[in-house]
Amino acid sequence: MKRILILGGGTAGTMMAAKLVHVLPLDDWEIAVVDQDDEHVYQPGLLFLPFGDYTRSELVKRRSAVLPPAAKLILAVVDRIVPDENRVTLLGGASIAYDFLIIATGSRIVPAETEGLTGKGWRDTAFDFYTLDGASALGEKLRTWKGGRLVVNVVEMPIKCPVAPLEFLFLAEAFFAGRGMRDDVELVYATPLDSAFTKKRCSDMMGGLLEERGIAVETTFNTGEVDGSARMLRSWDGREIPYDLLVTVPTHRGSAAIATSGLGNELDFVPTDRHTLQSRAFENVFVIGDATDLSSSKAGSVAHFQAEVLTGNVRRAIAGLPLDPGFDGHANCFIETGYGKATLIDFNYDVEPLAGRFPLPIVGPFTLLEETRVNHWGKLAFRSIYWNVLLKGHELPTVGPRMSMAGKRG
Ligand SMILES: Cc1cc2nc3c(=O)[nH]c(=O)nc-3n(C[C@H](O)[C@H](O)[C@H](O)COP(=O)(O)OP(=O)(O)OC[C@H]3O[C@@H](n4cnc5c(N)ncnc54)[C@H](O)[C@@H]3O)c2cc1C
Repeated sequence: MKRILILGGGTAGTMMAAKLVHVLPLDDWEIAVVDQDDEHVYQPGLLFLPFGDYTRSELVKRRSAVLPPAAKLILAVVDRIVPDENRVTLLGGASIAYDFLIIATGSRIVPAETEGLTGKGWRDTAFDFYTLDGASALGEKLRTWKGGRLVVNVVEMPIKCPVAPLEFLFLAEAFFAGRGMRDDVELVYATPLDSAFTKKRCSDMMGGLLEERGIAVETTFNTGEVDGSARMLRSWDGREIPYDLLVTVPTHRGSAAIATSGLGNELDFVPTDRHTLQSRAFENVFVIGDATDLSSSKAGSVAHFQAEVLTGNVRRAIAGLPLDPGFDGHANCFIETGYGKATLIDFNYDVEPLAGRFPLPIVGPFTLLEETRVNHWGKLAFRSIYWNVLLKGHELPTVGPRMSMAGKRG
């Protein structure tokens, strides 16, 4: 029996397992997935948790209930990948051999890497919302917070779901307005970017919305230190931003196992071919999702498009055929803008977000680069689509892995 070993049973690893059990002969191939815990978190829901829109239990399922029964789940921490010997060692010493390896170990936040961030005030006046515990604790805080200066700070790029900090600000603005305390709250966005977002058309739209909602923006702010006692952010170039409540999006890194194995770049993301998703160092190793070093967004939608290409490439690799350079960097993100509306962006490595309708020309039903209620419903419906369609390895009708220009205007 040959083995495809998938490291990480999150969004990308689960989709890959679901697809591979359908296309490979399981008499010949074992599909095994290793994850360090048995909680699959629907991460896009973490954005809503602080505002009381979801409960913890609505966002979490056991991995064993989400993975296809034909895949083998191994609950253990991956310690090290030894690609020269086609094996992986687990914490505790066990070793698993593989014929093909798929690295889907995602990204993690490392708040302790910013001086002072996890010191005085952590989870009291400074919170993250990128983890279940962080988002829950922030929700508790917001329930009784009396107002003041709320600063959302992205410490450094890249981060997963790069639009999430903006969405948090829009939702926070609407949340405080709804509670009749908008005048008691000053909202500030401190970002290392030179504008609200990376993509020009989207950035212009986001910048306009931030201004309209009275949210101040501090650009090119590279956080060097958080002084929890003085409640002050300090940048490397000596600028200071005071806060009463800090919502941080900390530095992201790849899995510690990538660092231990010496397989990553300076942030422990794995060098990956941008079109085939093969590791740049080892022929029988593939990488998917947040774990890659690619310039495509670290987003579940991207992992979904990658999974379609990668499934084909695993089959090609097994058959000894040339790989399909089919991944074009396609990303598709709903952006919550508050007050029951959202916008939508669709782009790839080469094409910036454009206006128009999505996925179908004229009928949509979604509208690109415009705020609509239908877009917001699309974002909310995504949770059910995630559990019931994407994680089951199914494809979305009319939305292919390659970005389509249908319905888009220049
Ligand atoms: C607040 C927030 C909002 C978001 N909103 C959106 C959105 O609206 N749309 C969207 O498309 N995306 C969104 N995302 C991003 C999306 O959730 C991620 O990009 C996606 O989950 C990445 O999938 P992945 O499989 O690469 O990583 P993950 O889903 O994080 O899975 C990685 C897995 O690897 C496991 N692992 C890591 N190291 C080890 C080890 N050493 N041993 C064993 N197991 C290990 C982890 O336990 C984890 O289960 C959001 C993320 C956040 C935090």
